[in-house]
Amino acid sequence: MCGIIGIASNKPVSVNIINSLKKLEYRGYDSAGIAVIDDSLKVTKCKGKAAKLEAMLSKTNEADIGIGHTRWATHGQPSEKNAHPHASSGEVHIVHNGIIENYLELTEKLTNDGYTFESETDSEVIAHLLHQHLQSSGDLVTAMHDAIKELDGAYAIAAIHINEKNRLVVARNKSPLLIGVGLEENFAASDPLALSQLTNQFVFLEDGDVAEITKQSYKVFDGK
Ligand code: GLU
Repeated sequence: MCGIIGIASNKPVSVNIINSLKKLEYRGYDSAGIAVIDDSLKVTKCKGKAAKLEAMLSKTNEADIGIGHTRWATHGQPSEKNAHPHASSGEVHIVHNGIIENYLELTEKLTNDGYTFESETDSEVIAHLLHQHLQSSGDLVTAMHDAIKELDGAYAIAAIHINEKNRLVVARNKSPLLIGVGLEENFAASDPLALSQLTNQFVFLEDGDVAEITKQSYKVFDGK
């Protein structure tokens, strides 16, 4: 298990991502990480808990979009390198809860296609698959639909792209994931508890769903 969180807001998000990660630590706490976009994309990861991650973050972070993760390792030991978010080509960044059963086969295919793996996790294939599909579709939602067709296993995924300063894309299969609806801000998280300080309006996603979340709105693409 582990916990994921994503926020698109009209306010800085780092503090709320950290607070949500602390509430998700019952799901796993061997490492933690965050990726946010303001004038540039900033990734901070550590072995250890969200409080350690918090101490590493800049106090003046003004980013209003980001994703976070608290990990309970299934593939690859707890380490900074294996902590999420995982990236592809410095452009796509993802957090993942679950297990990708066919990751070895996908790792081989993506390596043959020229991708370099930085971690020992099963999750990193998701970042590279999204990047690869983006090259043909040019759209993160379409790339997510295309990428999950190749995944076997359980996943709740939240993804951001360095050039998209107001869009998170999420997907779910057999791992919990919901959208939290706020005022000029919207959220994705593994459970309602993670968002209890931010909203009490939730939309629970179902297996196969993909959703797009911006600060103004959200849209669910039904997987059925
Ligand atoms: N399988 C992923 C990893 O080991 C996610 C772990 C989880 O969901 O706890 O990094």
